[in-house]
Amino acid sequence: MNVKTILAAKGGDVISIEPTADLAAAAQLLSKHRIGAVVILGAGNRLAGILSERDIVRAIAEQGAAALNVPVGQVMTRNVVTCGENDSISELMERMTERKFRHMPVLKGERLIGVISIGDVVKSRVQEIESDAAAMRDYIQTA
Ligand code: AMP
Repeated sequence: MNVKTILAAKGGDVISIEPTADLAAAAQLLSKHRIGAVVILGAGNRLAGILSERDIVRAIAEQGAAALNVPVGQVMTRNVVTCGENDSISELMERMTERKFRHMPVLKGERLIGVISIGDVVKSRVQEIESDAAAMRDYIQTA
């Protein structure tokens, strides 16, 4: 199983926001789409950053309600770790665990073709384990 398999099942929709939008707008977007992170696109629709619910919570903890007026560009993580469609799910799990984040944009060349979340990774691992177990049961019954 690789990133391409996950994207084929869930689609390549990418919810994005501009760096000049404020954190209130970002929070509304996360809530509307029931997601935990949004990517920020800059000039030429290039990936400029990622903003997760944790970034919004941290900004509010540090600055209070005024943080909601702060532009996304000031709070987002700029050094975004991305993956490619041929990367394996176990590689993604390792990178997410090591770096302690739960979202990875998928790039094909410069083009953003999807976002994989830890939820997608866990779902795919569970399906893989279940199908291995079913194959093993079939083998035992027919052996
Ligand atoms: P998350 O666990 O994805 O909600 O994010 C935790 C922290 O990691 C936040 O500060 C995010 O901005 C940051 N983050 C999330 N995804 C990535 C990524 N793919 N690359 C770099 N930083 C990220």
